[in-house]
Amino acid sequence: MRTELYIDGRWAAPALGGSFPVVNPATEEVVHHAPAGTAADIDAAVRAARRAFDEGPWPRMTGAERGRIIRAIAAGIMARQAELARLEVIDNGKPLPEAMGDIADAAGCFDFYAGLAEEMDAQGPEALTLADARFAARVVKEPLGVAGAIIPWNYPLLMASWKVAPALAAGCTMVLKPSELTPLTALELGQIAHDAGLPPGVLNIVTGLGPDAGQPLADHTLVDKLAFTGSVPTGAKIMAAAARDIKKISLELGGKSPFVIFADSDLEKAVEWILFGIFWNQGQVCSATSRVLVERGLYPRLLERLVAEARKITIGDGLEQGTLIGPLASEGQFRKVLAAIDRARDQGATVACGGRAEGFDRGYFVAPTVLTDVPLDSDAWREEIFGPVVCVRPFDTEEEAVRLSNDSRFGLAAAVMSADDARAERVAAALRAGIVWINCSQPTFTEAPWGGMKQSGIGRELGRWGLENYLETKQIARMVSDEPWGWYLK
Ligand code: NAD
Repeated sequence: MRTELYIDGRWAAPALGGSFPVVNPATEEVVHHAPAGTAADIDAAVRAARRAFDEGPWPRMTGAERGRIIRAIAAGIMARQAELARLEVIDNGKPLPEAMGDIADAAGCFDFYAGLAEEMDAQGPEALTLADARFAARVVKEPLGVAGAIIPWNYPLLMASWKVAPALAAGCTMVLKPSELTPLTALELGQIAHDAGLPPGVLNIVTGLGPDAGQPLADHTLVDKLAFTGSVPTGAKIMAAAARDIKKISLELGGKSPFVIFADSDLEKAVEWILFGIFWNQGQVCSATSRVLVERGLYPRLLERLVAEARKITIGDGLEQGTLIGPLASEGQFRKVLAAIDRARDQGATVACGGRAEGFDRGYFVAPTVLTDVPLDSDAWREEIFGPVVCVRPFDTEEEAVRLSNDSRFGLAAAVMSADDARAERVAAALRAGIVWINCSQPTFTEAPWGGMKQSGIGRELGRWGLENYLETKQIARMVSDEPWGWYLK
């Protein structure tokens, strides 16, 4: 576990020498003291990235040359998969098999963008046919510049890869600021990139607290673009900082995603996808389907099965075999989720199962929680809880289900299940969300766009849309006719 920051291709102690504790959420033990970067470290990192962009080889390499190094990063991640997954469990609490999957997905993301970098060489400039034949124009894509990436704690290395891989593929240089709750694997990424041959200054990694390291990165005038994933209030601060000098931004924020289940659905499949949709990663998933709407004919049977199955889920330390739900990632999140359950009860909801997990004398464990009778104007129905808490309510008509689904300030994801394909497609078209799943919830594809409508964010990550985040579009037009222009000199 590293005690230094990765700046300009070297490991360096933070300027002020500070550190912050890293706590294993299953045991509440402090397992490490991570380096606390501050404004001076951010400044050094941004200047290194600026130099690497303005003078270094990275933006000037061919896509194939960049792709080779990005593929080596992917291979470096996979070579250390088991070790990185263990760090992720100690840091974040998630079950080890899920962490193994996250690390493989992170490597897959680097591989995917290595492929897109290689394709960029073949694509070349796009020639335009102009109405005015005296001119010819072409469009080229260029790396955007220096990117500042700020990420959350729910998928530490995977969220880093969603930003670092496309930024590198595009030819950008960058500063990554991981969450102070989960700094361990992002720091390792620095060494992996270094060993893969990434030139100095292209990727800089500064761990530290949000106000001390994140805010100076957002404010830095030498940064061209901010890529942020996290909560809506912090997203608003990032937007305000970007507005001061018109930085480009992409924001991936929260959600309160609906899952509409019609009565013709297979009961077993419905229960399985509801459970996965909200309890995977302890419900700390931006796209978690936390509002489940069930057609009244199926509601009583489904609720009974759901509660029975939720009670059976094995809770424990993520390193123990058989654990399906680990602790929440931090004491703060633990207290926030328990307070949200108490508030739901105070505001009229019924807690069908769940709450604080029994049988643990330490660790931040919350049992899978099912809420019913949740008032539509209550916080539990309207606000993101970011924990293993699902609201379930009946509906009577398709129109009602769509209206209730869309009645939210968020629009990240939504899901619908029905045996009637035409109905499922109709509802999918009517749902106001950036990602809609039919007959499932949560599968995520590196090739497909990810991001939200409304207050769930701005822009899309992943796929070719993720690459576009880090590219500028340039028009080069030339006069091809010998005719005099004749405006001034007649
Ligand atoms: P957060 O907003 O508290 O923190 C996110 C990051 O911002 C952290 O690195 C933090 O240090 C930094 N930060 C905090 N204050 C800052 C400031 N003033 N200036 C700059 N940076 C600052 O969010 P979180 O609790 O880490 O993550 C949970 C949230 O993230 C949830 O709302 C969740 O929905 C969202 N999320 C969204 C997606 C998505 O793809 N849409 C994915 C994962 C998480």
